[in-house]
Amino acid sequence: MTASFSERGFSRRAFLGLGATAAVAAGAGLAGCSPQASGDASSKSTASASAATGTASAGAGTPSFLTAPDAIAESDIKETIEADIVIVGAGFSGISAARSAVENGAKNIVVVEKAKTWQYRSNQVGCIGGKIQEDLGIDIDKNAVVGQIMKECGYRPNQRILKLWADNSGEAFDWYLAASEGQYVVEAESDAYDGESMSVRKMHWPHPAEANVAEDFYPIFDDCQICLPDNGPYIQNMVDICEEAGVQFMYSTFARQLVRPNNTGRVEGVIVEDENGDYKKITASKAVLLASGDYASNTEMMSYYVPWSDRFMSIFPNTDAKGEKTNTGDGQQMGMWIGAKMEDGPHAPMTHHLGGPLGMDAFLLVDVNGDRFMNEDVGGQPFQNQLSRLPKKTAWQIFDSKWKDQIKYMDTGHGNVNWYVESGSEVPNGSYGKNAYISEEDNEDGNTPGFTSYFEGDKAVGVTANSIAELAKLMEVDEAALTATIERYNELAAAGNDEDFGKRADRMFPIEEGPFYAYPLTDTVILVNMGGLQTDVDFNVLDTEDETIEGLYAVGNTQGGRFLVDYPLPAPGISHGMALTHGMLVGRILAKL
Ligand SMILES: Cc1cc2nc3c(=O)[nH]c(=O)nc-3n(C[C@H](O)[C@H](O)[C@H](O)COP(=O)(O)OP(=O)(O)OC[C@H]3O[C@@H](n4cnc5c(N)ncnc54)[C@H](O)[C@@H]3O)c2cc1C
Repeated sequence: MTASFSERGFSRRAFLGLGATAAVAAGAGLAGCSPQASGDASSKSTASASAATGTASAGAGTPSFLTAPDAIAESDIKETIEADIVIVGAGFSGISAARSAVENGAKNIVVVEKAKTWQYRSNQVGCIGGKIQEDLGIDIDKNAVVGQIMKECGYRPNQRILKLWADNSGEAFDWYLAASEGQYVVEAESDAYDGESMSVRKMHWPHPAEANVAEDFYPIFDDCQICLPDNGPYIQNMVDICEEAGVQFMYSTFARQLVRPNNTGRVEGVIVEDENGDYKKITASKAVLLASGDYASNTEMMSYYVPWSDRFMSIFPNTDAKGEKTNTGDGQQMGMWIGAKMEDGPHAPMTHHLGGPLGMDAFLLVDVNGDRFMNEDVGGQPFQNQLSRLPKKTAWQIFDSKWKDQIKYMDTGHGNVNWYVESGSEVPNGSYGKNAYISEEDNEDGNTPGFTSYFEGDKAVGVTANSIAELAKLMEVDEAALTATIERYNELAAAGNDEDFGKRADRMFPIEEGPFYAYPLTDTVILVNMGGLQTDVDFNVLDTEDETIEGLYAVGNTQGGRFLVDYPLPAPGISHGMALTHGMLVGRILAKL
């Protein structure tokens, strides 16, 4: 599933210039570089360089993205457009901000988008509160959620920025749905859903009675809703509201540079390039909002900021008017070129694993040597973190024929499988999210969770056997080691005490009754990469001296302070929920300027 660095056609050393000297120079290049200053790197201090780039690394070479391009000359600008507010990016956060701003009285808003139309992905939206949760009697402790994210992110995020989501996301989700009032149904039964109409349901709800989530080692909260068929029609309705209120969307339009003369004072606008290659200046008398997403498709930025994650294959689907992926860190770069500060790392790749046929359920895991290596009862992000460090980056998920009775005890949430649905039965309402259940129809031989032993080339991808010896052979794992591991695991399960790795007793199931199943888990994919410009709690971008840059704001994945080290999963759908909520909030702020 992954493309190696070299397969992607370049050498990490080549562009990082990993001689000893120069991330200093790299950072210095940035600190000095404004388009207007045409990137006089060497004259700037190392200290401000590190601050600007969000990396403390010393090293070499100047990655090209840290060097500001020459300023686009006034003589090359074909047209000037006057606006109050310019929003760069018509994704979830930018559209939410535009709608909120115009609904709160802002005028003369221009949204520039480099794709041919507005963009979105997926169907999840995570929030705390809101009518759907209230009707279901779901009451989430906001501080518990934010506290858990803080812990899983090594206490690096700005807790007040997370809190904005926690405090306002219920309202924001109701506001999101209000744009589609009368067009969707809530809590539709899954078999009533025709795949086309709009329907909103709670993800992973209700929990099986046996799932004692209160004792979770990695808690997953009930914040996530699923909007069917996906977020598209709901966002379309927001765009319609914006357009009817006079917001101007300029598609196939690439924001290229911010206008901030001499890198001092306020940001005055944006220079964009249209599909013909003509430059236009859009002045912003009140604000420029960077809502241009993340940088996971910028290989140079990935290798600079998160070299441990640049091997993950991207499945990012959105492309700009020229056919390139849209998430190339344009907003972060344009901001840094005029003096904004990239947040300190480690930046956070969204690389959560979805597990095997039984998802991220806490079944026995062994490595390629047949050894157990961790408490299996964790979410998809911590699991991928372990997997990255295993020999051959491979683990096997192992379970026996009794899995159908065991999945209801497992954690409920992102990546968990909790229901086995007999043929003709209904999927429990709201547990939709295909990974929440396995139906008998999915079950190829009526006995296994969707697979029998099969191979891709010489490589086993899911094996089934009637004995552990046979299983080991199919897995190409040492039989004695695997047998010893399973015997020990069974002993701990019988004792109800996982002395070895501390897994809770009610999720320890012995591997004793064949057929036995094993599935190899290898690297997952990357969705987006979190790392953005440092802002205050009003979304105002800060410079390398921690002073606000007047007129410049950031939201969504262009904003820092939200996820660091990891994109954890205590609150599934939070990325969309935060784009929506923070978009709503920053729109209100811009409307008051
Ligand atoms: C396959 C996939 C599935 C996902 N599923 C989920 C999920 O289920 N739940 C969840 O919470 N998150 C999910 N995510 C992550 C989530 O989609 C994003 O984190 C979130 O939508 C980011 O919103 P945004 O507004 O910051 O950025 P985006 O939605 O990326 O919007 C940024 C916009 O800015 C535009 N832009 C960029 N540069 C320029 C420029 N120079 N000029 C003009 N326009 C520009 C882009 O074209 C884009 O339209 C998923 C991501 C992927 C890839």
